[in-house]
Amino acid sequence: MPTECKHCEASGTCKNGLDGSACAACHAMHLLKGLASDAPTNGLPCGICKGTGIAELFTEKLQNRIVPFISLFIITVTLALVFYLAYGASQQQSEALTLAGTLVGSVTGYYFGGKGKNT
Ligand SMILES: [Zn+2]
Ligand SMILES: [Zn+2]
Repeated sequence: MPTECKHCEASGTCKNGLDGSACAACHAMHLLKGLASDAPTNGLPCGICKGTGIAELFTEKLQNRIVPFISLFIITVTLALVFYLAYGASQQQSEALTLAGTLVGSVTGYYFGGKGKNT
């Protein structure tokens, strides 16, 4: 369920500053992104919703925070499994190591790959 951005009233353009221009917070954010300091501040995309007019959902925020923990959890469980198998059923050890390697690789790849896209 998308929620309308309260900051820009779902228009996607910040008009909270003087004379319908962008507010100081949104302007500062655009300055950080490379906007020239003497550029006009009117018609700037809203910095809260990034110009989409839709506020980030609480569940999405939660998901972004939980994903790293899930990755960490999977890696821990996988490592525990590897240690367990290393001292237990040695015949399946190489298979388990291959599986564990693939799992850890895909998890770290997903986590760090996704993280890199956002920056
Ligand atoms: Zn907005
Ligand atoms: Zn603003």
